[in-house]
Amino acid sequence: MQRNTFKLIIRILIMAAIAFIVTDLYARAGGAGGDSGGGGGSGDGGDILYLVYIIIRLLLELPFPINIIAVGIILGGLAIGSIYTKRTVKQKTIFNQLPTGDPVSSIKGYDRFIKNNPDFDEENFKDNVKSAFLDIQEAWQNQDLSKVRKFLSDGVYQRFNTQFKMMKLLQQTNTIENIEIKNIYIDKIESDGLYDIIHTAIHASINDRFVNRLDPSLNSGGKEEFVEYWSFLKKRGKERKDIYNTDNCPNCGSPLPAEMGEVSRCESCGTLTNSGEYDWVLSEITQADDYISAHPKLAKSEDLTEKIRRIINENDDFAVQLVEDKASNGYLQILTAQACNDPSIMRRFVSDKVFKELGINETGLITAYNRIFLNDVFLVGVSEEDGRNVLHIAIKSSYQRIQIDNNNKIRKLDEAVVSRTEVVFMSRDKDAAQSKGSLYAHSCPSCGAPVENSLNISCNYCGSIMNSTSTEWIITDIMSLGDYNEWRDSNKKDLSYSVDTSLIDKLYDVRDFAFNNVMLVIAADGVYASAEKQFAEDLAKKWGYSIEKLQPFFTMAQNSQLVIRMPEDHKKQKKIFKLMKKAAESDQNVSMEEQKLLDYIKGQYGLEENDAA
Ligand SMILES: [Zn+2]
Ligand SMILES: [Zn+2]
Repeated sequence: MQRNTFKLIIRILIMAAIAFIVTDLYARAGGAGGDSGGGGGSGDGGDILYLVYIIIRLLLELPFPINIIAVGIILGGLAIGSIYTKRTVKQKTIFNQLPTGDPVSSIKGYDRFIKNNPDFDEENFKDNVKSAFLDIQEAWQNQDLSKVRKFLSDGVYQRFNTQFKMMKLLQQTNTIENIEIKNIYIDKIESDGLYDIIHTAIHASINDRFVNRLDPSLNSGGKEEFVEYWSFLKKRGKERKDIYNTDNCPNCGSPLPAEMGEVSRCESCGTLTNSGEYDWVLSEITQADDYISAHPKLAKSEDLTEKIRRIINENDDFAVQLVEDKASNGYLQILTAQACNDPSIMRRFVSDKVFKELGINETGLITAYNRIFLNDVFLVGVSEEDGRNVLHIAIKSSYQRIQIDNNNKIRKLDEAVVSRTEVVFMSRDKDAAQSKGSLYAHSCPSCGAPVENSLNISCNYCGSIMNSTSTEWIITDIMSLGDYNEWRDSNKKDLSYSVDTSLIDKLYDVRDFAFNNVMLVIAADGVYASAEKQFAEDLAKKWGYSIEKLQPFFTMAQNSQLVIRMPEDHKKQKKIFKLMKKAAESDQNVSMEEQKLLDYIKGQYGLEENDAA
């Protein structure tokens, strides 16, 4: 008990340490999975919030009176710490003292894990993570995934692939230098159906340069130090057959194709190298702030997959993570289809109704994403409709849309990186046939043959209709989180599993949203006028934020590293908008850029002029 308590305190101290770091996040490889969502999350006054969250956890999870003592120690330590580290927030002192993490044997779930996987070798595993990390940085820089495809899940592949397509549209390159891995440790082990998932923390620093040939105003870069969480998945108890240190098929030994795209399939025996059947597969990359701030209630419980599997009467191979992977894969392809005005990219895996609703933008111009990444993907509900199981998957993404006209001139459709949560409905028949391929990875679920992007929805080989729910999870609806909550309220009786989606916003309260957005407005014209500075400082003081964080915060805003954040609640949106307007007016001069940003938000959230009066 005491040992566990001690471990918990150490863990929470690590979390506190990470929460207090202001990281500069650019567009490095892992960042494609959640890059400046981190940029928005980490420096935006969320620090105070994390602290509150951590303290509440401490109070709840530790027995009395140890909880009170622990909180006392942390607050005392922080008070002393802040006296000594007043100079600049960018000091990485806390970072440098990051503990090495618990030894793997003391991690929750390890005992069960090692019993099922007796040949697990921690050092060897970490070596593979290290080489995977380095190979992916190289792949990212070269915008070429062929060397790493064999160990990426289809969803992770698509995250990179989408980012590459967008970078090509915007003529962007990202060079990376001086990669230094400071530490790798296993943070958590979970089980998900027949699979085990290992969440690995990677603490590293790099220099990166993000260059945009269409418009230098989109350039960014510099040295950054960060922690990312890489999640690896493998089928439980299967003997490990190395896919990291060889280019041969783990099943039949033949050389793997030099170019594997959507599908990581061996041409000789047809096996998928990334099924989790052979070796650890990279299935998720999460930024530290998203990882830590993921609401504990929304985190996957140990038996979630088992529970869902029983509800929907699925076979043993089912895992929530795998459907989430399909959802994020499909979601990104839909965004790509809309960006490129090419509906053939998404036709095969969406229902006819969704296809009609999504439409294609009328300007006919390309809309690329300067940043596009998924912060979080998770199951929020399960229902049944017309003999089909329906899984509701919430996808939180961050992006900035840039329109490119025929003369290669750009126009920012989003004045800053914005984030939104949408809920994707994935439907499949209750008595669905075993799938032979994945539509999301361009193979026919009925016969396994490769499938091209096309508006024709019948398979060229077997003739079956592809967007049929009889063999594959098909996207049958996409709605905003607000619409989803309404839908859920009127369909309560049909839901067999549901989580409280209001928890998604819970870690932020109005002032955190507001403070983040106020800094964005103030920085919009690149000038930090003294009156604006005064306004920000007064606000910070009033709301209990640290004044020293303002400058780095402002710098992040200036570098387009903050994300506009808004709660779902319209009344709160109005309040926040009012404050943003006041901030812009504080120097008696609302610049054009500030006005543009305000108008954009007004339009985006349907706010009236008198909302800001
Ligand atoms: Zn093979
Ligand atoms: Zn077919």
